[in-house]
Amino acid sequence: KLYNQVQDLKGNIRVYCRVRPFLPGQLNYFSTVDHIEEGNITISTPAKNGKGYKSFTFNKVFGPSSTQEEVFSDTQPLIRSVLDGYNVCIFAYGQTGSGKTYTMTGPKDINQHTQGVNYRALGDLFLLAQQRKDTFRYDVSVQMIEIYNEQVRDLLVTDGLNKRYPFNYYNLAPSKFSFVFLIVLHSKLFSFIYSKYSLMIITLEIRHSSQSGLSVPDASLVHVSSTADVIDLMNLGQRNRAVGATALNDRSSRSHSCLTVHVQGRDLTTGAVLRGCMHLVDLAGSERVDKSEATGDRLKEAQHINKSLSALGDVIASLAQKNSHVPYRNSKLTQLLQDSLGGQAKTLMFVHISPEPDAVGETISTLKFAERVA
Ligand code: ADP
Ligand code: MG
Repeated sequence: KLYNQVQDLKGNIRVYCRVRPFLPGQLNYFSTVDHIEEGNITISTPAKNGKGYKSFTFNKVFGPSSTQEEVFSDTQPLIRSVLDGYNVCIFAYGQTGSGKTYTMTGPKDINQHTQGVNYRALGDLFLLAQQRKDTFRYDVSVQMIEIYNEQVRDLLVTDGLNKRYPFNYYNLAPSKFSFVFLIVLHSKLFSFIYSKYSLMIITLEIRHSSQSGLSVPDASLVHVSSTADVIDLMNLGQRNRAVGATALNDRSSRSHSCLTVHVQGRDLTTGAVLRGCMHLVDLAGSERVDKSEATGDRLKEAQHINKSLSALGDVIASLAQKNSHVPYRNSKLTQLLQDSLGGQAKTLMFVHISPEPDAVGETISTLKFAERVA
């Protein structure tokens, strides 16, 4: 029996690597990805970084031409297990610009083909729940939170949207007026005022409640019954995330965002209730900042990101090595996910890399991070 448990534990952590394609206008670049062969990826480092080749092995490597559909089809079994009462965590890791948000959500103009894991996962849950409707009654609700500088914030607040912030300048029409307005807004003065406003954002506590099964009981919990509901909520969450940012500070790349899907299923014949939950996490950019350049808030942000990403790496690595002590307490992120990392829970880490030679340093350190948890 113990043997089975140990086996489960090892089989429950999966790492997929995804390489972003070059973006339009980057046609003349050489890719640092030398070749991909099943679960292997070989990076060639350019001469100025000491020419050579480095290979890494993962459960799966998705090349630059892989589609959202392909990526999802390897994720689907994990998602389906949520309906059987398992807890699942899916992470997107990588430097800013490597495609984390693309994998989880999609590009800016999302359509059916470019939808990311989040939308597909929920669509799939609804579909399966419908298929099982004669034997199970499922109830699906979601929470969406952000962790920024080790503070937890609710992204699904509706009432606060216009009250808590002076205005939502991201929604301004691109007129001459708003252009001038944005320039003014970019000034130091406005960024100072914004930083005072952002202090008014309510921060939430992580309290694991065994009764409700929630780790952040005070964050909005919204019942959803269709993909359309989910799209509305994700739009709200994304808007809230942007509004919290100052113009000078693209907060979305410096914070972790987590969409949590809670599923409760009642067996219609026995009346037994099972509960599963899925965390879909778009992590903060993993790039190291130059200590000589970063000061003040920027340095503080970088230190918080560093701390929480290495805490996550430590937790997953110690689960993979079957250590008896798992250091969950070292960051808000790992505290939040404690119930869904380890034990019977299933974990999938998507590590993203950018193909540009300029990014090779970050690419290597991303792959090293990932290899440690694989
Ligand atoms: P991150 O969230 O890691 O900062 P993004 O997901 O925002 O990175 O990706 C950066 C840019 O690259 C975006 O314009 C995005 O649409 C594009 N992009 C990322 N991955 C892909 C992909 N697999 N195919 C096409 N475009 C992509
Ligand atoms: Mg992003």
